[in-house]
Amino acid sequence: MSRPTSNSPSKGAVAKKKPPSKVTHDASSENRVVPRSGNRAVVMTKSAGKAGPVIVKKETILAPKGYTMRPVVPAKNYDVVSFARAMNDDFAPRVQKLFEPETHAAIIAQRTGIYIGWRCPEFKHDCQRVGDMSKCFCGHLLGEHDKYTGRSIQVPCKFGGCPCKAFAWIPSRPEDIGEFWFQRRRDFDVTKWRAKCRCKHTHEAHAATGGRQCKAKGCSCFHFNSNFLCAACDRHWEDHETFFETEDMRKMNGLPYGEDYLPFAEMPNLRNAALTGDEYDESLYQALTTGQGRPAITSNPPADNNTPVPFGQNRSGFRPVYD
Ligand SMILES: [Zn+2]
Ligand SMILES: [Zn+2]
Ligand SMILES: [Zn+2]
Ligand SMILES: [Zn+2]
Ligand SMILES: [Zn+2]
Repeated sequence: MSRPTSNSPSKGAVAKKKPPSKVTHDASSENRVVPRSGNRAVVMTKSAGKAGPVIVKKETILAPKGYTMRPVVPAKNYDVVSFARAMNDDFAPRVQKLFEPETHAAIIAQRTGIYIGWRCPEFKHDCQRVGDMSKCFCGHLLGEHDKYTGRSIQVPCKFGGCPCKAFAWIPSRPEDIGEFWFQRRRDFDVTKWRAKCRCKHTHEAHAATGGRQCKAKGCSCFHFNSNFLCAACDRHWEDHETFFETEDMRKMNGLPYGEDYLPFAEMPNLRNAALTGDEYDESLYQALTTGQGRPAITSNPPADNNTPVPFGQNRSGFRPVYD
């Protein structure tokens, strides 16, 4: 039985693509690792029928059953897929839903040549693909901020009176930080969920500028220190930055671009699942690679990467159907 441990992405590892070295995991493996919280993982055992989750020590990240994977990809991906498989038979639609914001952001990035990624500065992969519907620390969406280009350094908020001077991505769904169980609660309202600081107050209770001091009455917190870890790299929110980049900048820095920027770009079945909700439906991927996506950028570039992209306009002209 092959042990995937040695090929697992290590914490905060700098992702480097190793092209041909693929690893196929033993398809008979019964254990799957599902989402972690802090430094634990929950393993579901399939064989025991109604087997409950067992808490185990992390560090073992298994590829989902029957999949071939490249070794270095943010761990989040595997956790999510294993989770989806363990919890539900219609896992592909689940994967699609979980990754919808990122898939959408990736398609738009590919189309416009403006990539917005959230990651630790030294990483060669993004922990999060960011789009206009992504939330900023100030509580407003990227689309509510000023126009931006692939070379923007700071994108200030334009929402009436908001003092935010630079867009900074913040998780807006519990699954963004690996807390998948929330969405299964019947009364859970994602619009009310907020990422929190160690002081227990939300990001919106902290100043959007400077040291991000907590504004809650009586709280002596001077900086936002996330009480959660990044689902992709296990580091704190404050270790990350939001980067605006052009395709050229990403090429030069060895960061994924084009189709490689799609979630699960290295795992076709999962990539399809994220795109269409069906592991075997290549149609959207084909569309992206053969006409409506990337090639269209080459033949009809969005002026150049310094042209600001206005919010609210259908920039891509291409609307994938997610339902
Ligand atoms: Zn704002
Ligand atoms: Zn903001
Ligand atoms: Zn605080
Ligand atoms: Zn506070
Ligand atoms: Zn991260």
